[in-house]
Amino acid sequence: MTKQYDALALLSGGLDSLLAIKVVQDQGLKVLGLHFTTPFFGKPWLHDEWLQEYGIESVNVDISKDYVRMMVDGPDHGFGKWLNPCVDCKVMMLSKAKSLLPEYGAKFIISGEVIGQRPMSQRRDALSIIVKSADVKDVLLRPLSAKNLKATAVEENGLVDRERLLDFKGRSRKPQLALAEHYGFTKIPSPAGGCVLAESESSARFIRLMQAKKQPTPADFRLSQTGRQCWAGPLWLAMGRKQADNKKLEKALRKGDYLMKTAEFPGPLAILRPTDNGTPGPEDVADAAAYTASYSTKARKHFEATGEPVAVTVLHRTEAGDEQGELNVLPSRVTPLGWQEPEPQEVKDWKAEQNGQATA
Ligand code: SF4
Repeated sequence: MTKQYDALALLSGGLDSLLAIKVVQDQGLKVLGLHFTTPFFGKPWLHDEWLQEYGIESVNVDISKDYVRMMVDGPDHGFGKWLNPCVDCKVMMLSKAKSLLPEYGAKFIISGEVIGQRPMSQRRDALSIIVKSADVKDVLLRPLSAKNLKATAVEENGLVDRERLLDFKGRSRKPQLALAEHYGFTKIPSPAGGCVLAESESSARFIRLMQAKKQPTPADFRLSQTGRQCWAGPLWLAMGRKQADNKKLEKALRKGDYLMKTAEFPGPLAILRPTDNGTPGPEDVADAAAYTASYSTKARKHFEATGEPVAVTVLHRTEAGDEQGELNVLPSRVTPLGWQEPEPQEVKDWKAEQNGQATA
């Protein structure tokens, strides 16, 4: 039988989520942290640290598929400053948490929101939209701001002592830091859990992908965060910037992809991945190979000194298996396809276009 708890908590790993759990644990209640993972956020490697440092048990909840679908369909409540669909994101996590309550025998959900702390998801009106959409009015407790909110069912029925909850609000971090000290935290994580959807550069990468593929997969979104992202129209090339990227690229290879690397010189790995309107032909593969070779310093210097082409190994993963060959190319940053990295301005343009369509 699944171990039983009094409450399930949204555990991003940010300071507020940890503190909210501690406040409830302090009342002698058993809490299980739910750590949601998607291609855009999640640190599942921290479960042991949360247990050892903070005494918090937690499990992983992978919502990648539903999350990607929500991003592609367009979040009901729109995006924040970049591609962060904060309201829909919270709704999805709370709905999922609610659906898990019976399995763990839990009576309520905890979240670490503080009223007025952040734009969008944590404004009072956004909080009420979230609660209504996720249908968690009767089961959601926000211990850090509870005294600024109406008493919830679990406070009214005495399961949770409202008097021992808190009245934090606003942007100041001082109350949280004081509470962390009270609980003896020696490691203070950042306020939030870290989410690339709220970052300009990552958002630009995602926009290109969403424009090029109608049904991008979680794996596509992960590839779009790996290394240097280069686009030529609908053609997509992901290239390692460092060793760790190259390792990720090796693992990211899927059917249809071309994996390339300079054969005789050290250099980055690159994946050329087909998109809806971008199935690479032989000339495209050669162009991408020349561009990839230009990021190998030794290959480029060899070419500049001798004028000779350099060899690039190209592995094509097909339905029938891997086909490997070698292409001789002239390393170049300026190729006929004109590879470019996505710019944050593209996100603003895309959103303006979407809004224009919505109001047209
Ligand atoms: S910042 Fe990211 S993880 Fe946090 S609520 Fe917004 S979309 Fe969700």
